[in-house]
Amino acid sequence: SQLEEARRALEGPLFADVAGDTAVSFEFFPPKTPKMEEALWETVKTLEPFGPRFVSVTYGAGGSTRERTHATVARIQAETAMPAAAHLTCVEASKAEIDAIADAYWQAGVRHIVALRGDAPGADGFVPHPDGYTNAADLVAGLKRLHPFEISVAAYPECHPDSRGVSDDLDNLKRKIDAGATRGITQFFFEPETFFRFRDRAVAAGITAEMVPGIMPVTNFASIVKMSALCGTEVPAWLGRLFEGLEDHATARQLIAATLAAELCRKLYAGDVRTLHFYTLNRAELSFAICHMLGLRAKVPAKVAVAA
Ligand code: FAD
Repeated sequence: SQLEEARRALEGPLFADVAGDTAVSFEFFPPKTPKMEEALWETVKTLEPFGPRFVSVTYGAGGSTRERTHATVARIQAETAMPAAAHLTCVEASKAEIDAIADAYWQAGVRHIVALRGDAPGADGFVPHPDGYTNAADLVAGLKRLHPFEISVAAYPECHPDSRGVSDDLDNLKRKIDAGATRGITQFFFEPETFFRFRDRAVAAGITAEMVPGIMPVTNFASIVKMSALCGTEVPAWLGRLFEGLEDHATARQLIAATLAAELCRKLYAGDVRTLHFYTLNRAELSFAICHMLGLRAKVPAKVAVAA
């Protein structure tokens, strides 16, 4: 019946019918301790066989992870077949300092930067360094003058908290793309419609660059509520109900996290999304399970194949 057809179109394909034709990327954070480094490396090795188009490494607030981010990015670039992208922010650094960091990445063979404004380490909002880049668009332009980097920037389906509204936020995103960025990677969100609405508005605002949904698997509801409040992401009531009473059930939370994220991806797929960026939280199995459900299958990485 018509009703059934409409329902099928809304629900999208079953997991078994998802074609595995999605390009994925993975985001990691730089490890603090040798033990965390070991865990990250295991995650990198587990996810590498999916052949992500790139993997990125975050940059701590105020440049606090400058060395660790560099070391992690350089190691991924040198020891894996995956192109590594370095996150870089404008916070508390002069243009000369930022240019030196970017130059060191270029020398290490890194060709992709995720260019961000960043946030002030305190709660006072962003204050540009007197000799620094004033916002992400300014940073993109500076990086492009330095080297022909591939550049990704942040995009906000529910608007950035500092923006004056939807059209302001899209103007800012357009400035970043016009300055030379190739794609936007979105802040996390929980309803597919949030992304579809944003994608339509971006196109209407003349933004033709690809917008890649950022997927955050939720394993710890309390910390997601805090993060969402900071970045302006709406947490739907049903998500809270799902995690009720699971504080002492870590495994159940993992299973739910994988199911929910895969379900969101499946609905995005039904809406013609073919690129996804995963906030891995440096955990292998969660992103592995989600990608597998999306039809991706692990392949032998090129460098290993050549060696064999
Ligand atoms: P911008 O794009 O410069 O702008 C932020 C807001 O300010 C926009 O809403 C815009 O409307 C407004 N604005 C900027 N310039 C102007 C202007 N000239 N006129 C009017 N309005 C303006 N943070 C980190 O510290 N490290 C990371 O590694 C990191 N990785 C991230 C990865 C992704 C995919 C995302 C989505 C965010 C990430 N962040 C990271 C968070 C990010 O740094 C913060 O959201 C920050 O507050 C804004 O950075 P931005 O690059 O979006 O800023």
